[in-house]
Amino acid sequence: MHTYGTARINKEGHLEIGGMDVVSLAEHYGTPLYIYDVALIRQRARAFKQTFEQLGVTAQVAYASKAFSAIGMVQLANQEGLSLDVVSAGELYTAMKAGFPAERIHFHGNNKSREELIMALEQQIGCVVVDNFYELELLEALCNDRGEQMNILLRVTPGIEAHTHDYILTGQEDSKFGFDLNNGQAEEALKKALEMKRVKLLGLHCHIGSQIFETTGFTLAADKVIQKLADWKNRFQFEAKVLNLGGGFGIRYTEEDKPLEPAKYVEEIIKEVQLKTTELNLAMPEIWIEPGRSLVGDAGVTLYSIGSEKDVPEVRKYLAIDGGMNDNIRPALYNAKYEAVLANRVNDPVEETVSIAGKCCESGDMLIWDLPLPKAKPGDLLAVFCTGAYGYSMANNYNRIPRPPVIFVENNQAELVIRRESYDDLVKLDLPLNVTVKQ
Ligand SMILES: *Cc1c(COP(=O)(O)O)cnc(C)c1O
Repeated sequence: MHTYGTARINKEGHLEIGGMDVVSLAEHYGTPLYIYDVALIRQRARAFKQTFEQLGVTAQVAYASKAFSAIGMVQLANQEGLSLDVVSAGELYTAMKAGFPAERIHFHGNNKSREELIMALEQQIGCVVVDNFYELELLEALCNDRGEQMNILLRVTPGIEAHTHDYILTGQEDSKFGFDLNNGQAEEALKKALEMKRVKLLGLHCHIGSQIFETTGFTLAADKVIQKLADWKNRFQFEAKVLNLGGGFGIRYTEEDKPLEPAKYVEEIIKEVQLKTTELNLAMPEIWIEPGRSLVGDAGVTLYSIGSEKDVPEVRKYLAIDGGMNDNIRPALYNAKYEAVLANRVNDPVEETVSIAGKCCESGDMLIWDLPLPKAKPGDLLAVFCTGAYGYSMANNYNRIPRPPVIFVENNQAELVIRRESYDDLVKLDLPLNVTVKQ
């Protein structure tokens, strides 16, 4: 078993996280159950922040809350002094309900609505990351109507696409996000923003992808953006105060993944930025980063109970669990791979290879193919590792299956941060039919 954070095998042979035996957690909270190792989240957050401090660089580490947005999680991010990225009014609302300081909230998205921008203005958030010309003009007009100002970054696409293991340099980046840096759009946006009275341009933002394992993509992107900044300093006397280099730092899901320590990415990126800005005679900007997955991904475990099985002789054995694509759509959505153990018998010898099926009416609802396990029986517990990012946040009610609860564990204590959805919750938006049919 690869161990993440505080995960251990205790003397009963049970998986233990944050000092809590997951078998007892399953008895108390039921399954499926999302468990977060809070100490590991804190450790990651601190490592990012310390890296900036050690290099003497002013920074904001913004948690990309789309990875897992909940009031408790946002409060944890605040405890650790992180900033917060939101990509919708719903995530902003969650942040407000959590009492998160508005000035450290950044609003992302390629199609923010008028209502969303108004909400950002009402809450006086720290920054809107402007994605396109429509938004730039809409935001300036809304600020004008309200007699307010708003800090902005322009999101640019540097023409580097990270395909997890390699990078494609494209002249004309084919992406729905941001202003293209190569074809003049970014420069046009810059000129427009500089002429505007209400929006205050702090700098640029770029985010090249997700689950990236090497630093090359980041440093290539940083180089291109800084080169452009040097050009804009000469031609428009524009000097960026902030350079936001996004998130996307990869984590280990299975042994195929070989990431760096999350903070190591940051170290290499900053060094490149320092080198390049010095070379081009630019002041070192404040650096913002936006980790999502690398803050919470490997801190999350999903605990399931095993139920039925189906043996297809000579082909494979399916073991079904009490969750699936409802609580983790990533395998079905993009073939994501996971590791898992029998949490109540971790030390038992592996006896067979099974495939873990979800309970949804969908053949594609498979969680893990070809998992080596001891012989499991109904009621055994399966712990799937690394489900902390894009698990709960993508959970859904397909087949009207209630969403599982989320607990935080730390220092031998467990705390419920999202309760289990009830059947009443499931029908609470439904209205009875008023129309009657004449017989
Ligand atoms: C999704 C996203 C992130 C976070 O990505 P991770 O891979 O979870 O670190 C950061 N910034 C932007 C703009 C994003 O869209």
